[in-house]
Amino acid sequence: MAALKLAVVGGGVTGLAAAHRAVELSRERAVELDLTLLEARDRLGGTIATERAGGFLVEAGPDSFLSEKPRALDLCRRLGVEDRLIRTDDRFRKVFVWRAGGLHPLPDGFQLLAPTKLGPFVKSGLFSWRGKLRMALDLALPRGTIDDESLGAFVRRRLGREALDRVAQPLVAGIYTADPDDLSLTATMPRFGELERRERSIILGLWRAGRKAPMTGTSGARWSLFVTFANGMEELVSALASRLPPGAVRVKHRVDGIERHGRGWRLGGGLGPPVEADRVIVAAESYTASRLLRYADPALATLLGEIPYASSATVTLGYRRTDVPGPLDAFGFVVPRTEGRALLACTFSSVKYPGRAPEGHVLLRCFVGGAMNEDILGSDDGALALTARDELRQALGVTVEPVLTRIARWPKAMPQYQVGHCARVEALERCATMLPGLHLAGGAYRGVGIADCVRSGEEAADRALGAS
Ligand SMILES: Cc1cc2nc3c(=O)[nH]c(=O)nc-3n(C[C@H](O)[C@H](O)[C@H](O)COP(=O)(O)OP(=O)(O)OC[C@H]3O[C@@H](n4cnc5c(N)ncnc54)[C@H](O)[C@@H]3O)c2cc1C
Repeated sequence: MAALKLAVVGGGVTGLAAAHRAVELSRERAVELDLTLLEARDRLGGTIATERAGGFLVEAGPDSFLSEKPRALDLCRRLGVEDRLIRTDDRFRKVFVWRAGGLHPLPDGFQLLAPTKLGPFVKSGLFSWRGKLRMALDLALPRGTIDDESLGAFVRRRLGREALDRVAQPLVAGIYTADPDDLSLTATMPRFGELERRERSIILGLWRAGRKAPMTGTSGARWSLFVTFANGMEELVSALASRLPPGAVRVKHRVDGIERHGRGWRLGGGLGPPVEADRVIVAAESYTASRLLRYADPALATLLGEIPYASSATVTLGYRRTDVPGPLDAFGFVVPRTEGRALLACTFSSVKYPGRAPEGHVLLRCFVGGAMNEDILGSDDGALALTARDELRQALGVTVEPVLTRIARWPKAMPQYQVGHCARVEALERCATMLPGLHLAGGAYRGVGIADCVRSGEEAADRALGAS
């Protein structure tokens, strides 16, 4: 029998996870696989990019992944790299909120949107008494009735404006770089909608859930919530790439169109002849998928093109420890939009994970841009660095020049799950099932994080090889 020709478009973590899963399945089922992974850039990894410079380890994009969602951790086990994972230094498991000129600790037990521990919440200087009482009203409020509500509207309704402005908005901006009034609750944090339906009160629901399963996710107690690799996130990219057959990966190959060809598919682009394949997994951004499929299925292309993306940048600064005043005893701080600042958040990278800065130094990573402040990306690198440094001067009192500066721009890299997202994804998945042998995967559909991308890529490979 002829080998099954599979083409994967995009060499980010989704495409790599899909290609790797396809190789695994072909071995399990003794199917001969002819795999080609096409990546437009000159390197694999997409938004995952780690750099070592002057003893610092800089993550230009993601710095960790969620261990609670099992697929990424399970992939690490199968790749034999689980022992390369490191956990957060939980002595410093604290996040500050930069508000009214000061850094206020997020009260212990605050879970994204709501408090779960009474003492630290009552004592917190982050909220006014009025704000605290408004949050407590959640205990008495009836259930809501709206089906696909925005995250902002949900938090305002249940917990009040202060909970939204001072905690939910900045924490959500750190994950989705989005405006909570646009984000769909169902698509981004369905757990809170379910809690309301089941328990009515979010605070009571979280408190009961905490009593039932104290501090252990599905990954067990061994791992902290976020994990990374000793030598940075690119270890995952290298491990995946090393498991693919020799010659399967083609970098600097930008696909410019995908069309039906007999019973299979033809992928135009790159320098050589078109690539022909029986099955295709499109693991590029959804706006790219939209362009590639514009002739194959205009209706699907339109739906794909409707998913908006936001742009952001990271400004990573290395300092001598003695040049940064204060204890730096936290994972970092987030910044509410109401403060009118340029920073979305700052991670104390070398405090959060070991091995990120040489002895006697610290590494701070600032996050700017996002759906609510994209204009800042119009500034050149020098201006971006100065802005980040000025914000750190005000927040932490750092006045000296950093010993290391790295800037990474991520244009249109973060999909925005706006209200209506779930319905749109269901519609486009229905359309895609009409295209035999073609499969979509990536962070644009059912989860933006790395663990979700791994799941999405692997599920696409399962479908492509007929395993699900
Ligand atoms: C700044 C930043 C920080 C983040 N932090 C975290 C974090 O800490 N934890 C976490 O879990 N997630 C984080 N994320 C999200 C996470 O990085 C992404 O969800 C994930 O890496 C996306 O992987 P992907 O393969 O789906 O897409 P991408 O990484 O975008 O890869 C898509 C690939 O397709 C290629 N491509 C595009 N068009 C074509 C074409 N025409 N032909 C061929 N190839 C093409 C691109 O060059 C790219 O390599 C972060 C994202 C950003 C931007």
